[in-house]
Amino acid sequence: MLTGDQDKVRRINKSVVMNAIRLHAPISRARVANFTGLNRGTVSNIVNALIEDGLVSEDSQEESKIGRPGINLGLRRDGGAVIGLEVGVDFINIVLTNFVAETLWETVVETHPTTQSQTSIIGQIEQLIEQALSITNERHLRPLGVGIGLPGLINLRRGELVIAPNLNWKNVPLRLMLNQRFRLPIYIENEANLSALGEYYFGVARSCDNFIYVCSGIGLGGGIMINGNLFRGSHGYAGEIGHIQRDPQGEKCACGRIGCWETQVGPRAVLRRVKKDLQMHPNQFLLDACHGDFNNLTFNMVVKFSLEGNEICKQAIEDVAMYLGEGIADLVNIFNPELVVIGGAFILCKDILQPIVEKTVFSSAMRPSADSLRIAFSERGTDACAFGAIAVVLDDILREMTLN
Ligand SMILES: [Zn+2]
Repeated sequence: MLTGDQDKVRRINKSVVMNAIRLHAPISRARVANFTGLNRGTVSNIVNALIEDGLVSEDSQEESKIGRPGINLGLRRDGGAVIGLEVGVDFINIVLTNFVAETLWETVVETHPTTQSQTSIIGQIEQLIEQALSITNERHLRPLGVGIGLPGLINLRRGELVIAPNLNWKNVPLRLMLNQRFRLPIYIENEANLSALGEYYFGVARSCDNFIYVCSGIGLGGGIMINGNLFRGSHGYAGEIGHIQRDPQGEKCACGRIGCWETQVGPRAVLRRVKKDLQMHPNQFLLDACHGDFNNLTFNMVVKFSLEGNEICKQAIEDVAMYLGEGIADLVNIFNPELVVIGGAFILCKDILQPIVEKTVFSSAMRPSADSLRIAFSERGTDACAFGAIAVVLDDILREMTLN
C-alpha cells in the first residue's frame, strides 16, 4: 500500500508526464524521461497507465540513432472537446477544439454593448456555447470544459467579472450563471492573461518563460508571464498596464481617470490623432474615402491608407508607436523579460510599428535590461485569447484526470 506521500509523488509524476506529452508530442518514452528528469522505468509505468485510461495513444515509429525504433506518444485526438471564448468589447469569438487543440469549429459574432443589455450579450454567449456543444455531440466527443476571456478584472476564486470599464459591466457572477445552464467546468479569466497563455502554449512565446504580452483593442491589456506562470498579484488583478498614468494633462480614460496609457495608444488614439490633424490639414482624399464625414473613418481604413503612403495616417500610427515603445520600455525596466509580444489591433500595422517601437524601447530602457530582449508580434492573432482559454481548460482538466 502506498503512503500518502508516495501517492502524492506518483500523482504529481503522472501529471508531469502528461504535460510533457502534451507539449512535446509526438515524443518517445525516452525523451519524456529526458524532459521530466524521471527514470525510464517510472515513465514507462505511468505511460502504460495513461494509455489504459484512454488519454494517451502510441503513434508512428520514431527514428532511433541506435537502430531500435522507438514508439511515439501523443494525446488522443478523441479524448474530448474544449470550448474557448473571447468576449471582447464589441464581439464574441468562440473556438471549439479536440483534445489536442485542433480547431473543429470557430466563429465570431458582433455585440453592441452601448445598445445591447448585459442579459442579451450573456444570452449570445450561451447560444454560442450551445452551438459548440451540438457539434461536440455530433462528433461523439465528450465536452471537457469552457474557458472564457473577458476585458476586465476577474475574481478567479468566485469566477466573477468584478469590473469591465469598456463594457460598463460590474460584479457579474458569470461562472455561476453559466453553471446553472451547462453542467461543465467553466473557467473565467482576464482576456490579456489568456492571450498571453495562448501565445505561450500555441504561439510566438512557446518555451519562453519570461515575457510580457501587450494587447490593444478598444482598451490596452497586459499579461505578465514570470518563470512560466502568469503573474496575477495578490488578488488576481495584476497586469492592468493600460491604466498606468502617462499623461496627467491627457484624455479621459474609460476607467474615469486622466491620461492612462490606453488613451495614448490603440485604434481609438490613432483615429483621434488623424481627426485632429485633419482639422489643421484638410485632406480631400480622406474626405472622399469617408463619404464627406470623418466620423466614418475606421482604424482599418487608416492602416490601409498609411500602408499606401498617406502621410496623415502614417504619422498618426508612428506617433502611437512611439508612445507604445515608451510604455514598453518602462515594463522592460521593471520586469526584464526575454520577450515582449504585441497583439490585438496592432498586428494590422506591424510593418510601420515594429521599427519605431524597437527604436524607442532600445533607446529608452536601461541597457542591461534590454540587451537580450526580443520584440515580436502575436502569432495567434485574433485567436490568441480563445486559444488561451482552451489552454486553461486543458491544463486543469488534464491535471484533474491524471491526479484522480
Ligand atoms: Zn484608465
